[in-house]
Amino acid sequence: MTAVAGIWRVLALAMLMLAGSASAAGLYEARIPVFGSWVDLSLWNVEPATAETAKRVVAGDMGELHTRWHAWEPGALTAINERIANGEPAPIEPHLAPILRRAQELSLASGDLFNPAIGRLVGLWGFHARNHRRPPPAEQIAVLVAAAPSMADLQIEDRLVTSANPAVQIDLGAFAKGYGVDIAIGRLRELGINHAVVNAGGDLRAIGRRGDRPWRIGIQDPFGDAHLASLEIEGDESVFTSGTYQRHFVYQGVRYHHIIDPRTGYPARGAVSVTVIGQSGAQADAAATALLVAGPAEWPGVARDLGIRHVLLVAEDGTLHASAAMAARLRFEQQPTPEMQITRLE
Ligand code: AMP
Ligand code: MG
Repeated sequence: MTAVAGIWRVLALAMLMLAGSASAAGLYEARIPVFGSWVDLSLWNVEPATAETAKRVVAGDMGELHTRWHAWEPGALTAINERIANGEPAPIEPHLAPILRRAQELSLASGDLFNPAIGRLVGLWGFHARNHRRPPPAEQIAVLVAAAPSMADLQIEDRLVTSANPAVQIDLGAFAKGYGVDIAIGRLRELGINHAVVNAGGDLRAIGRRGDRPWRIGIQDPFGDAHLASLEIEGDESVFTSGTYQRHFVYQGVRYHHIIDPRTGYPARGAVSVTVIGQSGAQADAAATALLVAGPAEWPGVARDLGIRHVLLVAEDGTLHASAAMAARLRFEQQPTPEMQITRLE
């Protein structure tokens, strides 16, 4: 082989290798830090340049949403809450109107068990700060429950929100992650990406498939670090979990967690975690919160009202409750498969 032919062979090989690394085959994964937490992006068969664009776009969106929608750090939402508390109309940025309307619809459909208007109660319990330590006085809880803040009190126009009830304080904590994940999926689709998972700390929306098989995800065990079960999802499905273990404090031996039953003003009783599959992140996020409040006795009715078919609820006593559709899809790591109380929703 002449020296020139040898150089050509080396060059050809190098070009082949470059083509290989730039091809779209396989799984692309990226972890995006978002204010103390993260969003994991999984993309299937996407050109590297597109994948990098997707990562950049999603990172930008998520950071912006966090500051805009924060319930207590100064931003668009706190400005609205201040106006409402003073009984004044609140000017809003146009992008907020659809979010508030969607929250209003879901709140109504859940019979106000998902109630983002109870920001004052959440704040009273100290879950707007990191150093929540003891339950608030019963009289203060009673006053806020009697004031009955509801999303139905809000009149939402494109650039203005007015509240018929000054006790309303909007807290999108139970819903913003779902809405954000939906926005991220919309962005990916705009980039021509049709097979992806946007996973925000275990809460996720998946579209398409992972090549020749569905996406497989784990459901957190509320009593331990391991996965309780796994699920295969594909097409367009959102899996969200609300758990009492996620934020709580202990006072005089009693655990108080961050999901408040708007009917009592106290942390919801009966369930420790609820996982749902929904048609969008927003719907699934709101539903998981509502069903955790509903608890082991009432969840089926609320699930039907919200149009949710797949539910797994872990009760305080460790018993598992599931809709028939969910039970059929769960794969348990533990053998024999744990017993479940199964309810038909449809
Ligand atoms: P999630 O983990 O999605 O269930 O959301 C819980 C967060 O939503 C809490 O940390 C509060 O900020 C807020 N929240 C608590 N109780 C409710 C409720 N009943 N409806 C709506 N938001 C709530
Ligand atoms: Mg939620």
